[in-house]
Amino acid sequence: MGTAVAAVPTSDDFSRLLKHADSIKTSDHPEFLQLMKRLGGETTRLSPQQQMYLRYLQAWGIGYQGDYETATPLLNAVITESTDATLRFRAGTTLVNMLSIGSHYEEAFAQISQLLDQLPQIADKDARIQTLGVASMLYNDAGQYDLGLNYANQMLRENPVGDGDCKGRFLQVQSLYESGKFSTLDRQSSEAIDACNKKSEFLFANLIRFNVANFDIEHGQSAAAIELLQKNYADVQRIGYPELTSDFDASLAQAYWNEGGIALAKQYAKAAVDGGVKHEFTKSLTNAYALLYLIEKKQGDLDAALSYHEKYMAADKGYLNDVSAKALAYQTVKQQVLAKKLQIDTLNKQNQILTLQQTLAKKAAETSRLYIILLLIVLASIALWTYRVKRSQLRFMKLARRDGLTGIFNRQHFVNEAELQLRYCRKSERQACLVLIDLDHFKVVNDTHGHAVGDRVLKRAVEACQQHLRSTDIFGRLGGEEFGIVLPECTLEQALNRAEQIRVAIATATSGDDDDTPGIPISASFGVATIARSGYELRQLLIHADDGLYLSKREGRNRVSVCYDTQPRQRVAGVATDRA
Ligand code: GH3
Ligand code: MG
Ligand code: MG
Repeated sequence: MGTAVAAVPTSDDFSRLLKHADSIKTSDHPEFLQLMKRLGGETTRLSPQQQMYLRYLQAWGIGYQGDYETATPLLNAVITESTDATLRFRAGTTLVNMLSIGSHYEEAFAQISQLLDQLPQIADKDARIQTLGVASMLYNDAGQYDLGLNYANQMLRENPVGDGDCKGRFLQVQSLYESGKFSTLDRQSSEAIDACNKKSEFLFANLIRFNVANFDIEHGQSAAAIELLQKNYADVQRIGYPELTSDFDASLAQAYWNEGGIALAKQYAKAAVDGGVKHEFTKSLTNAYALLYLIEKKQGDLDAALSYHEKYMAADKGYLNDVSAKALAYQTVKQQVLAKKLQIDTLNKQNQILTLQQTLAKKAAETSRLYIILLLIVLASIALWTYRVKRSQLRFMKLARRDGLTGIFNRQHFVNEAELQLRYCRKSERQACLVLIDLDHFKVVNDTHGHAVGDRVLKRAVEACQQHLRSTDIFGRLGGEEFGIVLPECTLEQALNRAEQIRVAIATATSGDDDDTPGIPISASFGVATIARSGYELRQLLIHADDGLYLSKREGRNRVSVCYDTQPRQRVAGVATDRA
């Protein structure tokens, strides 16, 4: 009991402290500095992200004090090392401020143009307002007051009650004042001051007052300007922003000078000169030197007057140089951005053309593929059609060459093939024989059993013959129940033997009692002729074989005969008469 335990800050506490410090950067700068000191001593207990946030705020604070050279590398480190996109963006915006104040205008304009391009991807409200504010300020500095006013208006639209309210209004007044459109001390400025006071943004409230006071001085209202500036003088000292104090001092000096208060004018002009940011030429500094020159001249100190005049000339030149440097930098970056955009547009167009070409090539490939497929289909159809035609042709040819009932050569084809074979035999001087076969009393078979049975008997007789034929033999149906066989490379003796074998085969095949031809014995008569006696002419061979056949018939049928009589035979009404 009674022991006080100091609470150890947690990570959440640090986050809250960092956020708080961020929010009071300008509104309560001394408190901000206190927090920075405190958090700076606890860096080891901060998370990497919190450390990065702290570094950003430290860099901002250093820049606020006017030490831009130290602040710039710190901000660059945050930009390259932070994993938080919003923090990187904010550091980029603060860097633009530093670059601008450090007179690196081209870099500043290039950077702000990049940040404005990224703006659509940034959701954080504060970061957006901060960037829009810096953009508005920078464009005002470059004399682009319409652009400055645009971004100020956007700030107000995006955040009409938050930060945008004070800073947006301040920048509106600034743009209007600088562009000479700020014609009356109307509501706009007092509303802006109220808005900033409400947010405790006293720096901005006083910057607006500075504009109002200058407007008063320019319009013969120096007393009112003095009143306004003096009323807030202590506040400005407390804020401790060097440029603002210098502004207030310079404007007070001018107002007192106008009102004839030379001593006060000199006092404030000196304060403006001493309190200004080192190595920086501002309008206030120039005005202060000009006043000091006039005062010393009036008071008769010509040496001091000359010295101030020289300083005034240098400050005025520096200030004007600065103004034109900003305007030039703005124009340069604008051209660069335009050129880059043009380049990107050109690249995009080239890409579109390439894509189009690829699409066309693809389409062409598809089309030619289609053509090939079509062609293949057509070719396949033609091939199929040719095949079918050929097949039917072959079938037709076969039909034209074959005997319908027995399937062996018909008479015409037998004659063709026999003549071909005989020509070949003649050429190669080979033997050959012709055998003629006529079934015996076939008419009786038909008459007794009918034509159908007769057909079956005919077929069986043909099959019996085929069993004794070689592949080179030519076998055909010459008509009715009459057949011919050409036997190549066969002597008469061999031919007689084979005819005899066939005769036996026919007699055996048809004597059997089977389903097709039950108990119909049949025989055939044979006549044989040889090229050795008849020569190679088929016509002659047929005549001599026919002679043999009729001899067989006459001698009782079912036999094989050869007949080479010198006497021509006579045939009377289908009955062979013996010429012997
Ligand atoms: P042979 O020759 O022994 O003197 O007497 P044959 O009865 O055979 O006499 P011919 O040669 O005069 O008669 C042939 C018969 O063959 C006539 C016909 O009825 C029959 N014929 C001819 N072609 C066919 C046919 O394709 N089918 C049938 N079933 N019979 C046929
Ligand atoms: Mg016959
Ligand atoms: Mg017959």
